[in-house]
Amino acid sequence: MTDPSWLDLAPDDPYGVHHLPYGVVSTSADTGPPHVVVRAGDLVLDLGALARQERLRWAEALSEPTLNAFLGAGPEAWASTRDWLQELLTDPAAADRVRPHLNPLDQAVPHLPLRVADYVDFYASEHHASNVGRIFRPDGEPLTPNWKHLPIGYHGRSSTVVVSGTDVVRPRGQRKAPADPAPSFGPSTKLDIEAEVGFVIGAATPLGSSVPVAEAGDHLFGVTLVNDWSARDIQAWEYVPLGPFLGKSFATSVAAWITPMAALAHARVPLPEQDPRPLDYLLPAACTDTHPPLQGLDLTLEVRLNGSVIARPPYRTMYWSPEQLLAHLTVNGAALSDGDLIASGTVSGPERDQRGSLLELTWNGTEPLALPDGSSRGFLEDGDVVTIAATAPGPGGAPIALAEVSGRVRPAPES
Ligand code: MN
Repeated sequence: MTDPSWLDLAPDDPYGVHHLPYGVVSTSADTGPPHVVVRAGDLVLDLGALARQERLRWAEALSEPTLNAFLGAGPEAWASTRDWLQELLTDPAAADRVRPHLNPLDQAVPHLPLRVADYVDFYASEHHASNVGRIFRPDGEPLTPNWKHLPIGYHGRSSTVVVSGTDVVRPRGQRKAPADPAPSFGPSTKLDIEAEVGFVIGAATPLGSSVPVAEAGDHLFGVTLVNDWSARDIQAWEYVPLGPFLGKSFATSVAAWITPMAALAHARVPLPEQDPRPLDYLLPAACTDTHPPLQGLDLTLEVRLNGSVIARPPYRTMYWSPEQLLAHLTVNGAALSDGDLIASGTVSGPERDQRGSLLELTWNGTEPLALPDGSSRGFLEDGDVVTIAATAPGPGGAPIALAEVSGRVRPAPES
């Protein structure tokens, strides 16, 4: 495929006009507040300024310091803004009007692109859930009896979602290993990562309504990579009976760029077979037993620890589709808000090198990973840098690279 843009991008540029992820940046050339941009190649395009100049209908929403107002504008705004952008970036006659609003990416300081409303984390990988079950409940069934009937999740802490590049302070807390006579307090000794995919939600819904599977796509704005940092020692002691709490709420990192769902149209793939058949509210109306028209996403994640690749989790193996996660989240009448972040849960495939957490990669620290520098890791050490990247197929063989999410571990406070 040749890139049709007058920006002269390489045909295989993963940030070509087929992608156009959204972000919020401030630039050294601009003393104003953070503003909404899209990335094209190694440039960022100031959307608010361009939209005001071109009198785009959504210029006001695009002139806010976060994406929330644009998320609230809904799927018609998202689709027509994307069409408008692709037209401007491929029409040579528009180049002189657009160029003044372009800035080099390396002069842009990324911010958290949205004010996260609610944050929900699911548990949608059968391989991850099975591995965790084997580690924490070795004498029981790997999957709990409900796992294949409903997408399991929990409500997280939206105010501790941070943008890629933010340091993560090792949490302190209470823990008690099974053999310990009593709980103790201190810095987590089992700090871990979870490589996940996050869905950014818009087109808010009223309290008391539900979003059917078939309409969930109208609320899915885009995708961003997520690292759900997890303190396994704190988590293991606190999670019965109400689930994760302080073992995860200290920090959740997200990438600075949101890839529109529309850019991932070529990455939709059939879901793994769902057996037993889920209840009707988790299926589109036209679904039959043999041909469920539900789709997953063909994203290949890459997890790097201090620069070394330690896993390549395949998102296409996830059991529940994004639309099913949204339908389940709202089936009780819970409202959706503009800026909700819905994470998939740890992405783990069937192979050992496809596991998206150190808990699984090192089997709770009992099989440490050897790193190229000669060191080994059961869990994270202070100073470690974890980066999660992902690629997806785009149109005509052009790849799409999701923006990376990265973070460095800082020591726990002294007291
Ligand atoms: Mn998680």
